[in-house]
Amino acid sequence: MAGSYNLSEEQLMIRAMARDMAKDKLAPRAAEIDAKGEFPWDIVQFYRENQILGMPFPVEYGGQGAGALSCNLMIEEFAAACSNSAHALADHWLGCHPLEIACSEEQKKMIFPLLNKKLVAFSLTEPEAGSDVGNIQTRAVLKGDNYILNGRKCFCTNANVADYVVIFAKTDPSVGTRGLSAFFVDTKSPGFR
Ligand SMILES: Cc1cc2nc3c(=O)[nH]c(=O)nc-3n(C[C@H](O)[C@H](O)[C@H](O)COP(=O)(O)OP(=O)(O)OC[C@H]3O[C@@H](n4cnc5c(N)ncnc54)[C@H](O)[C@@H]3O)c2cc1C
Repeated sequence: MAGSYNLSEEQLMIRAMARDMAKDKLAPRAAEIDAKGEFPWDIVQFYRENQILGMPFPVEYGGQGAGALSCNLMIEEFAAACSNSAHALADHWLGCHPLEIACSEEQKKMIFPLLNKKLVAFSLTEPEAGSDVGNIQTRAVLKGDNYILNGRKCFCTNANVADYVVIFAKTDPSVGTRGLSAFFVDTKSPGFR
């Protein structure tokens, strides 16, 4: 099929389903979302109800187990209809990805079921650390059983609406990027703003 690039049956099905969702749900709201500059909570609710927030997570942790390509096909369709709605979703998935890579089994079982309903943001960039990630200034210092994070981030999509943020901070500044860690932070934590 033209434009299908050897996609599997499942990937073609996901793309077709995403195209229908985009046409029916996202496109009719796009102009209004742009004009009002409001976060599209109704679209997030639609994502929740259709298990879309959990698309990339493995099935054993409550997700849909869709691969990266399927998720990208979905984002491509959604973005063509409403860039804001697609971006909110893509950045939720982006925030979930480090958790998939680095969490223990116990943490995954605890965290992923939450993320079918709650929103995550991904916070790496700082005013002086965009491409140059090694220059991150945010520090995380262990005090007793807790890490205390101090720093200032920017360009964090979903930051003002997310329930959790994956924040990159330096735990050991003497070893450059090897001294960076990612923290799963509840946005209701004291001092978070
Ligand atoms: C809409 C939007 C949403 C975003 N959402 C998030 C988010 O959710 N979370 C998050 O953490 N960040 C987010 N970002 C930040 C984004 O990831 C950064 O903008 C990106 O990392 C680049 O950083 P910078 O803007 O500081 O540019 P810089 O790093 O200052 O780069 C400026 C230019 O210089 C070039 N350049 C940099 N270094 C080199 C080099 N060594 N050699 C040659 N060229 C170089 C770059 O390619 C670029 O063209 C978002 C940005 C935008 C615009």
